[in-house]
Amino acid sequence: MTLKGKTALVTGSTSGIGLGIAQVLAQAGANIVLNGFGDPAPAIAQIKHQGVEAIHHPADLSNIRQIEQLFAAAERAFGAVDILVNNAGIQHVAPVEQFPVEAWDKIIALNLSAVFHGSRLVLPGMRERGWGRIVNIASVHGLVGSTGKAAYVAAKHGVVGLTKVIGLETATSNITCNAICPGWVLTPLVQKQIDDRAANGGDAQQAQHDLLAEKQPSLAFVTPQHLGELVLFLCSEAGSQVRGAAWNVDGGWLAQ
Ligand code: NAD
Repeated sequence: MTLKGKTALVTGSTSGIGLGIAQVLAQAGANIVLNGFGDPAPAIAQIKHQGVEAIHHPADLSNIRQIEQLFAAAERAFGAVDILVNNAGIQHVAPVEQFPVEAWDKIIALNLSAVFHGSRLVLPGMRERGWGRIVNIASVHGLVGSTGKAAYVAAKHGVVGLTKVIGLETATSNITCNAICPGWVLTPLVQKQIDDRAANGGDAQQAQHDLLAEKQPSLAFVTPQHLGELVLFLCSEAGSQVRGAAWNVDGGWLAQ
């Protein structure tokens, strides 16, 4: 399929899953709005290499004003956002009674509220143009819990709920909203959890194996490319009646 002439905004796309998804959408011809922290130059170069246009905006998505500036910049550059991938997210691991209040607030703001704000900002333009796709990168933790991840699990369950509501509110239009629920993907976010395990004794290789073995029966990581290809499917005509879904890509995690 071709996304030529369409613009995709992928939040948190300077690394990890977001960059992988942006890469697949660029390969399909979409112009890309990148967002996220760190030096954006390598990501911009990678995307432009596909022969599409790319800009980067450094908005901190835990700040509503900066979210609004990101979407205004995207509209200024490309005139529209046709595909919104709400991907940016962070993690903090601690039991509830020790969970830092600031970490709770930050995770809810970024992992949940920013999904609401992005969606409310793109929907009017999508309705005007009569086409749009919103894809929320939730998690298996949008469907089941794990110890130590109170804010993350609460936020991701919220994203799955929000996805259903937007899926319903757009059901008679050519706009769809769906969530993708990945299991373990080897990105900086997960590498940190592997490093934390290794720091408690044992080597990194063993920590990685144990992390997978606890939850993911395939014993293999999902890749950003796998997730990008699913986003592409959701953008296609074949995906046009997938609405309000929470689609797990998890090496069998939720089959147990
Ligand atoms: P990552 O840490 O590799 O990338 C996160 C991206 O978000 C980076 O570009 C970072 O700069 C950006 N970011 C962080 N805080 C931000 C903020 N306040 N404002 C704007 N951008 C910000 O993480 P990842 O593993 O690629 O995770 C991406 C998404 O996938 C997250 O929502 C995460 O919850 C979800 N997810 C990841 C996994 C996994 O195993 N890695 C599994 C399920 C779901």
